[in-house]
Amino acid sequence: MTVTAEPRRPDDATLADELADTRSVYIHIPFCRRRCPYCDFAVVAAGESRISHRTYVDAVLQDMRSEAPWFAISAINFGGGTPSAVEPGLIAELIRRVRDIADVTTGAEISLEANPEDWTEEFGEALRGAGVNRITFGVQSLDPTILGSLGRTHDATAAIQAISGARHLGFSVGADLIFGTPAESLQSWRATAETTLSAGIDHLSAYGLTVERGTALSREVAAGGPAPDQDDQADKYELTQLLAAQAGLVQYEVSNYARPGHHCIYNLSTWAQGEYLGFGVGAHGHRDAMRYRNVRRIEKYVELVTDGKRPWAGTERSEHHDYRIERLFLGLRRMAGVAVDETVVRFLATSDGQRYLGAGLVEVINERLVVTTPLLTDTVARSVLSLSPDDC
Ligand code: SF4
Repeated sequence: MTVTAEPRRPDDATLADELADTRSVYIHIPFCRRRCPYCDFAVVAAGESRISHRTYVDAVLQDMRSEAPWFAISAINFGGGTPSAVEPGLIAELIRRVRDIADVTTGAEISLEANPEDWTEEFGEALRGAGVNRITFGVQSLDPTILGSLGRTHDATAAIQAISGARHLGFSVGADLIFGTPAESLQSWRATAETTLSAGIDHLSAYGLTVERGTALSREVAAGGPAPDQDDQADKYELTQLLAAQAGLVQYEVSNYARPGHHCIYNLSTWAQGEYLGFGVGAHGHRDAMRYRNVRRIEKYVELVTDGKRPWAGTERSEHHDYRIERLFLGLRRMAGVAVDETVVRFLATSDGQRYLGAGLVEVINERLVVTTPLLTDTVARSVLSLSPDDC
């Protein structure tokens, strides 16, 4: 008799901890058709640079050659930007190069972010052929007015067709949504979340719209335009939790939900401070207790790599104190929380820690510290970040 193991729940504490030893690769594809008004990522909108997709990918391939061999890669993640804006053949070349420089484990997660308007069956088949097994669509909303405010060029039909087409081809399928855009009603958000969930996604990332410095949205808000409302976002956050649970998705981080067996290995690994190599403009990496971030300008990136240099804008050694604070900060965002250690004990002894314990906002369950109300995680996180080396 064959015994089939149950897929693991994404909020499993053992899973959260064991992925600290997982290694990943992140590849940033910066190209976008246009710049969305709320976005502060390292992106290149059409017409902003003369660097072609081919030239950029060649630079990334060359950058990978400078990396010392690595082993046991469990996840390769293409983020952006818009990875689906480039030819699948280029994605395939990048995956092959990762396999040349590192030992990629059998069954590794190979994921790619895509915009719904880029989806076609041929595109999906080419990605499957390249080894991609997980795809996340930037759906954001299904309401045409809200999509317009967010500067998105797809519509609800394209988003649902993309999800269904990717499921049909056997991908693990995720959707990214944004709630709390000014002018979005609760009914509009409910319709977006319900319809997206009932399209059969395996993973959901739902974030409240934030106003990032330097974006078109921040200039509009500064000029008196409508800003996202915190109470409205709190209502939508709680509605999302309810709808995701009804659809069978388990919340495993403040903003992330998955069906058992469909958690994002790359995310869980980075939240557990696992090591990862980052390639491409604006990418970050963490290897051998050293963290680095790449330059954000595509011309500079290509120039540095072509000259045989690493495209780093900065590097830092992981200091003991910062590392412990980060472990607590990232760990508390997971539903699995963090195992109680010296830092946790000291945090709980601070006046903030005592207050949160007294109010039931944090609890120690099975020797792990967890935030009981995920909506209030940022409040706890701010206290964690203000801990001094003497505190921990
Ligand atoms: S498509 Fe995504 S990455 Fe590109 S500008 Fe819009 S939000 Fe930013």
